[in-house]
Amino acid sequence: MKAINTGHYFEPVDEEEKITYELWKKIMIDAVTERASDIHLEPHRSDSAIRLRVDGTLREISRQSNDVLKALVRIIKKIGNLNPDIEALPQDGKIIFKTDKTDKAGDREKTFDFRISTFPTVFGEKIVLRILDPGRVEFALKEGLSYIGFSEDNLKLMESILSKPYGLVIFSGPAGSGKTTTAYSALAHLVRETKGMCNILSIEEPVEYILDGVNQTRVDSDGEFNYLSAMRAMMRQDPDVVFVAEVPDFPSAQMLLQAALTGHLILTQVNSSDAAQSIHSFFEMGVEPYLISMILEGVVSQRLARMICPKCKKEIPARKELIERIKDEVDNPENITHFYRGEGCKYCKDTGYRGRTGIYQVIPRNDELIDFLTRKPNPGEIRNEMDRLGIPSLRKMAIRKAVEGIITLEEALRCTWI
Ligand SMILES: [Zn+2]
Repeated sequence: MKAINTGHYFEPVDEEEKITYELWKKIMIDAVTERASDIHLEPHRSDSAIRLRVDGTLREISRQSNDVLKALVRIIKKIGNLNPDIEALPQDGKIIFKTDKTDKAGDREKTFDFRISTFPTVFGEKIVLRILDPGRVEFALKEGLSYIGFSEDNLKLMESILSKPYGLVIFSGPAGSGKTTTAYSALAHLVRETKGMCNILSIEEPVEYILDGVNQTRVDSDGEFNYLSAMRAMMRQDPDVVFVAEVPDFPSAQMLLQAALTGHLILTQVNSSDAAQSIHSFFEMGVEPYLISMILEGVVSQRLARMICPKCKKEIPARKELIERIKDEVDNPENITHFYRGEGCKYCKDTGYRGRTGIYQVIPRNDELIDFLTRKPNPGEIRNEMDRLGIPSLRKMAIRKAVEGIITLEEALRCTWI
């Protein structure tokens, strides 16, 4: 096990390293103050860019000479216990960064995990640091599913799905759509509801956040203790609820379905564009459609959308041709007179957006849909059947948030492409 340095306890060896370290500390503080999810350090032909991803969008914060970037990369690798001399191969590591009261990152001490990934490019090493803010997830867990954007009706559907004693629940969405936070919130809900009377286990790679009341295990896909062997061992641990963060192959899928069939509630995640595709991915792995039909209790599909900045939010008249375009996706198109957008201000750095919210489609077990799935339909056919059964689409849920003035209509359409 590697020791982990924190940003504040690094000892520079000389004056030059001290200057670089101060610059790096400033970048980290800027990143957490700006609520960034990633820091990118990119060497280009003549100079280098430092960019932050905030609310899903990259923004350049400074340009540095390639020499300065090289020094920064070296120091990050040292702090993260990577080998600074290896430049031609990718490496990954971790920094724990603690802000204190003297930093401008808020008035209290906070701890952030920075996951480092290096990547050799033709102009030198590029580094991306993914920032995990445990505080944000803790807040989501404490406040529950409504905090992450679940509407009242979706919340009711979700609670009914999670009250099932056994079966399979799938959380689907593209990478970076917030699936893990939703799955964690669902687990936290189960911990609260079952009041310590259930054995809740999870298999993850890596464990992103520590969840009270859940026995979490870290597996290594390429090693001996992988998803399949962990699931096999877990079934002997008398579980009630199991969260499996990924289903990598057919044997794991089979094990998962077997567990769901034999009286366990299984929660899992699938990287896919939507619910239909996530169901279909099990068919593609070779799972028999009748098995999915027997055990599927619910599917959640989601996206993250940028919220309109509350300080510069303005009404804009709804143009006729826009209403015409979306009329099939809203309940009373004739009643829509305006939408909203952010004009840009200091608070949102002139972007018009501040923070993100989840767009969710929650599909509980539906007898007609289940029956249809036994025909092994393709994703398009599943979507059509869902439409026919009146299951609200992701786009419909997104447009609803645009009508409510939480997001812009452009954002609703942009984030619900299929
Ligand atoms: Zn604003």
